[in-house]
Amino acid sequence: MIDVLVAGGGPAGLATAIHATLAGMEAVVVEPRLAPVDKACGEGLMPSGVAALRALGVRPPGRALRGISYLDGRHRAQAAFRDGPGLGVRRTELHAALSARAAELGVKVLPGRVEEVRQDGEGVRAAGLRARWLVAADGLHSPVRAMLELGLPDPGPRRYGLRRHYRVAPWSDFVEVHWAADGEAYVTPVGDELVGVAVLSSRRRGYAEHLADFPALLERLGGRAVTPVRGAGPLRQRVRARVAGRVLLVGDAAGYVDALTGEGCPWR
Ligand SMILES: Cc1cc2nc3c(=O)[nH]c(=O)nc-3n(C[C@H](O)[C@H](O)[C@H](O)COP(=O)(O)OP(=O)(O)OC[C@H]3O[C@@H](n4cnc5c(N)ncnc54)[C@H](O)[C@@H]3O)c2cc1C
Repeated sequence: MIDVLVAGGGPAGLATAIHATLAGMEAVVVEPRLAPVDKACGEGLMPSGVAALRALGVRPPGRALRGISYLDGRHRAQAAFRDGPGLGVRRTELHAALSARAAELGVKVLPGRVEEVRQDGEGVRAAGLRARWLVAADGLHSPVRAMLELGLPDPGPRRYGLRRHYRVAPWSDFVEVHWAADGEAYVTPVGDELVGVAVLSSRRRGYAEHLADFPALLERLGGRAVTPVRGAGPLRQRVRARVAGRVLLVGDAAGYVDALTGEGCPWR
């Protein structure tokens, strides 16, 4: 019997499989999409995230980040990280680095999808496999969380995220969070000639309409978009528990806190 079966081969699933393997367990990941997987993301790793990756033997390429700046056109509040630099890294490069490390350790990544979960006192059956534990790392809208009825309704305002990349030399080694009445746009340098711009808002409208709220930023970007717009949401996801028998939720499947506003403690 497999020790740990992981549903979902995003960052949380691959990190879980790498951890399990380093702890001497056999880990198998089931993921429907081919690596490297792209996703709507601001692509900023905090220093603790960089350290956690390093401890797993994962060193993705990217741009060192010195801290975070908040700007609203008139004011700027800025702080440097105290524990060394963070990292701006393209999602595809992060995924490729995690996948390479998992492969190096012998983690099997199987194409497929977990669509049914059955468990008893000794193990779990899912995706035609039997394991001692199932880790659900299947993202914001986790099908496994839904199957086990672990989600909670969210009464609050629904926020969504959209992101796109621009071919322009980064002008700061801080992540810049630009504020406006209807949301935030944050800029992460991810390459020598590449920045990502993620927009978070509760207003449902197009990416270009959101960016129009930030004229100074628009001017800096110069209209050189080089990736399509990707989106995700609603961001806040609440859960009533992260463990159900032999099934454990990790990553976004385990509940999501809005990183900019802090809203959505998954336990409330
Ligand atoms: C706009 C935006 C900006 C963000 N900015 C940042 C940031 O700057 N820094 C940061 O650290 N975080 C950021 N985040 C959050 C970050 O993207 C997520 O927390 C992270 O992707 C979660 O990883 P995960 O592995 O849990 O889920 P995912 O990356 O979503 O991976 C889940 C995987 O599960 C697979 N899957 C789905 N269903 C099944 C199934 N039934 N069976 C098997 N597999 C399945 C999917 O194919 C997918 O590959 C941002 C998010 C958004 C939306």
